[in-house]
Amino acid sequence: MSSLHDRHLAVSPDWLALYYKRPLELTHGEGRHVWDADGRRYLDFFGGILTTMTAHALPEVTKAVSEQAGRIIHSSTLYLNRPMVELAERVATLSGIPDARVFFTTSGTEANDTALLLATAYRGSNQILAMRNSYHGRSFSAVSITGNNAWSPTNLSPLQTLYVHGGVRTRGPYAHLGDAEFIEACVADLEDLLGHTRTPAALIAEPIQGVGGFTSPPDGLYAAFRRVLDRHGVLWISDEVQTGWGRTGEHFWGWQAHGRNGPPDILTFAKGIGNGMSIGGVVARAEVMNCLDANSISTFGGSPVTMAAGLANLSYLLEHDLQGNARRVGGLLIERLRAIGAGSECVREVRGRGLMIGIELVKPGTDEANPEAAATVLEAAREGGLLIGKGGGHNTSVLRIAPPLSLTIPEAEEGAEILAEALRSVG
Ligand code: PMP
Repeated sequence: MSSLHDRHLAVSPDWLALYYKRPLELTHGEGRHVWDADGRRYLDFFGGILTTMTAHALPEVTKAVSEQAGRIIHSSTLYLNRPMVELAERVATLSGIPDARVFFTTSGTEANDTALLLATAYRGSNQILAMRNSYHGRSFSAVSITGNNAWSPTNLSPLQTLYVHGGVRTRGPYAHLGDAEFIEACVADLEDLLGHTRTPAALIAEPIQGVGGFTSPPDGLYAAFRRVLDRHGVLWISDEVQTGWGRTGEHFWGWQAHGRNGPPDILTFAKGIGNGMSIGGVVARAEVMNCLDANSISTFGGSPVTMAAGLANLSYLLEHDLQGNARRVGGLLIERLRAIGAGSECVREVRGRGLMIGIELVKPGTDEANPEAAATVLEAAREGGLLIGKGGGHNTSVLRIAPPLSLTIPEAEEGAEILAEALRSVG
């Protein structure tokens, strides 16, 4: 009998499952832990961003899903659907966007695709400004705006994309500048770009770049961009697929770190808000959302069962102040990891906010990316009982930490200990 790993060749792409040399089959989860097929338990420091916003197998979500599945799952586009309406009302209010409407999808890709469709139609332009090193999904239009070649498999493009500086603070041409000068330089760059282009539809940006290695600009960059964009009538799309729902601790949405000039015109979300059920969505004011004059529906977007999951998960998140937990526990964890990083020649920077923390690894004594070390630490952490992620441009030399938002202080300490040990394996 061939192993599940061998049989995985039937799935494309087969290499993605090989996150570890010895692929990991997860069989169940609870709280912040998951178990593999051999019964081994791991602390999950990555699933929080992928799927599990609050906690694995959260009883409130499981109950809501199974009750709704046992009641009815039908079209959300032809008939009224109570969980969808209720979730739309709550998300519209939480978004901060005035007169907001919500369109539900099944993924972050589809949410960004919809945002691009709306922005280009609203503005009558197919030119998009995107950030270097960004990632926005895998559809044709999403890969064509992604500023990270490793995740953009084609040069053919349905959109004309122009790339803007600013998403990465500590590398690139402005890295040596102080925060205020950094923002000034990026704004000047944007002004210059706009002076040489026709009429872009929108700027799309992740407030903290996820796949790009948890990099962020200084607070206020997007507020400064906003002033320029407004003068040109260009919309601002904030991709909150990784930064939304309180993950960054200080703010409910990532854009709020730049919030002086108000909310974005369009906000997209996905991933963990369904706690594993496939939800995505777009929020925009009615005028933008209603600019399409043809039917545009998503059969499974807004499915009652995913909406029930989203509602239960969102209620839990708010009632238990998981944003506050991300701020408190994430703050301690970053401090701990900085202390650990200070003792390692391979750690260039420990950065992040709340429970979205990146550890950038370099070759000792240099500024050169060290993907080999990242791969080694990932394996060593797994051996120690901790799952983490990696990312960062082409070189995947950034360890990514994004646990479920209910992480406790003892769990944070335990994870930091395992990581300290794993880092010792690369010096
Ligand atoms: N935007 C961002 C910022 C993401 O990180 C991702 C997924 N990594 C997406 C969009 C795409 O989401 P999905 O994989 O659900 O299509």
